[in-house]
Amino acid sequence: MSQERYLIQGDFISTPTPQEVAIHENAYMSVEGGMIQSIDKKKPDIGSDVQLIDHGGQLVIPGFSDIHLHAPQYVTRGLGYDKELLPWLNDYTFPEESRFKDHAYTDLVFNDVVEDLWAAGTLHSVIFSSLHTDASITLMEKYAKAGLSAYVGKVNMDRNSVEELSETTEASMRETERFLEAAKDYADRDVLPILTPRFSPSCTNELMRWLGDKVLELDLPIQSHVNENLGEVAWVKELFPESKHYLATYDDYDLLPQSRAIMAHSIHNTASEMEMFKDKDVLIAHCPDSNSNLASGIMPAGEMLDKGIRVGLGSDIGGGNRLFIGYAIESAMKASRLLWALSEHEHRVITFAEAFHMATAGGGSFFGKTGLFMPGYFFDALVIDDRRFTKYRPLSVFERLQKFVFCGDDRNIVTRYRKGQVLPKPEWN
Ligand SMILES: [Zn+2]
Repeated sequence: MSQERYLIQGDFISTPTPQEVAIHENAYMSVEGGMIQSIDKKKPDIGSDVQLIDHGGQLVIPGFSDIHLHAPQYVTRGLGYDKELLPWLNDYTFPEESRFKDHAYTDLVFNDVVEDLWAAGTLHSVIFSSLHTDASITLMEKYAKAGLSAYVGKVNMDRNSVEELSETTEASMRETERFLEAAKDYADRDVLPILTPRFSPSCTNELMRWLGDKVLELDLPIQSHVNENLGEVAWVKELFPESKHYLATYDDYDLLPQSRAIMAHSIHNTASEMEMFKDKDVLIAHCPDSNSNLASGIMPAGEMLDKGIRVGLGSDIGGGNRLFIGYAIESAMKASRLLWALSEHEHRVITFAEAFHMATAGGGSFFGKTGLFMPGYFFDALVIDDRRFTKYRPLSVFERLQKFVFCGDDRNIVTRYRKGQVLPKPEWN
């Protein structure tokens, strides 16, 4: 079907920029080879061989991108939220992740993760596996089977873990090579590897240098965490006295490749770090649910956008508890409103359009031409049946989108398209 041309009728809405909402109500979108060709108010003159797909009266929105989550933590999400980051990692996260050396267990959990991402309309993800190479390959295989696009990372951590979850520096390098080799099998299905130093405290200088050399040699993207929690920031200062700040611990080892790095959280930033985000075109993974759950703080999202820094959203499973990225949109807005109130208006609130942009075009920018509706972009979309929200009073298309995000969930998503093809529910046999 992806090479075919077809016409879709529906109410289309997307945000080409954080400030811009593009609405095409009761319009016709022409799709060919999985790509959007045109969006017209009037039905174009088409040949009788071109199929018309009728989503009339339904909302059609870009597919979601979740640019920060941890697959193994699907099991422990929701647990231990009366702790802060560092004790939470040691008490819940690390012991659970050690279980992913077991293939049957990995299979059981990762089937659910990928199936639930499909259900939630998350067509693109940037995800941490565990440090186990086989588990990481299994995760890639699940994404490929489901037809979802992802960057998957085998975690690197050769220090400061618990006994049952650790690797030597040498094993971390060797296993990363093995992972990168195996990952080649999935590239044609848009499932790609991403280097994943867990965070600076987890990696020795030697391992950081080696990973940076891989970035330079193979032009690989990277994902990691920065400035999540004040205790963590102080710890990084002790571990890397030669670096000028936390973000520089990555840059000093060539781990901030231009436009190819994702940094999760980014809450407690210095002015110099804000400059570095901008200079290196780092994509920020804003994870408001996780940041509340672990009492980490509130990321100044408005300031990031005003500086022209790219921002996407992460569910951060299991620091975050909910996979549907609509919840992250809601939480990003709530967090920004609290920050505005508590800072006596020193920080600005973000708009709904800005938060929705983060969940679609913002995060999608890491994947290329996706996340908005314009000619030349892939038709990656969700069809929403929102009749239950419009039966009491008429709503504009923009209001319907807000209703879906704030009052709906994945049960309202009736069809998912990636690269122009309908994605059926994944089957695992
Ligand atoms: Zn994380």
